[in-house]
Amino acid sequence: MITPDKLSLNTATVREKWNLANCIEGCARHGIGGIAPWRDKLQEMGTDKAARAISDAGLRVSGLCRGGWFTAAGAITQDVIDDNRRAVDEAATINAECLVMVVGGLADNSRDLPHAHELVEEGLARTLEYARTVGVKIAIEPLHPMYAADRACVNTTRQALDICDRLGDGIGCAIDVYHVWWDHELRTQLKRAGRDRLMAFHICDWLDPTSNLLTDRGMMGDGVIDIPLLRSYAEEEGFNGLYEVEIFSAENWWIRDPDEVLETIIERGRTVC
Ligand code: ZN
Repeated sequence: MITPDKLSLNTATVREKWNLANCIEGCARHGIGGIAPWRDKLQEMGTDKAARAISDAGLRVSGLCRGGWFTAAGAITQDVIDDNRRAVDEAATINAECLVMVVGGLADNSRDLPHAHELVEEGLARTLEYARTVGVKIAIEPLHPMYAADRACVNTTRQALDICDRLGDGIGCAIDVYHVWWDHELRTQLKRAGRDRLMAFHICDWLDPTSNLLTDRGMMGDGVIDIPLLRSYAEEEGFNGLYEVEIFSAENWWIRDPDEVLETIIERGRTVC
């Protein structure tokens, strides 16, 4: 069971109907403990104003979504570095527990996966160098391998931790059950990560059958993921962060009344998580 105070609302879950101010008020109204803004919503509200509203509402910030996207140009450009620095600054301003990194897939018109891996590591290293100076933690989110071409070429927890081992302090993983539930090594790798490198834990469900690989995520309990089991792996390592609900659902949850969505999240947190 996850009580509402241990839940966090990723703003993508209600992104079609609520702006960030609505999300902050909604979390406070429903007793949800935290929030994880996406940068577009944050910038739309204004980072300083959002920081005040989040703090006034007594919410934790389980993460800022997202930095990364290092690979598209086929080289690490100054624009990419600058944008990631801005993301770090935004994360610092809203007191986010980590900046979540979706690292990027193949470069445009490229088949060179090893090169993409090199770019990702260089981009992470340069961002981390800056993040350390302002005390922001960097969390690599391994994405399901189906996104290796277009979103992220870091696809397992093992791969993410290998990068963390090479880069040192201040970098860890954001674990999203949607992306890693199938991985037979998950428990071993979460053990390897340890508490300090388990920086975020995202929940939703994998629907079977699933109709869209990006926008058909399920509400917890509606799919095949054993969330309590995966959560127990993290808790065995001492994870005591929030459980961030991140549901991309164009045909279902995005078109419902967000208050109903939050009520369902809370009910499922109590019953199936
Ligand atoms: Zn996620």
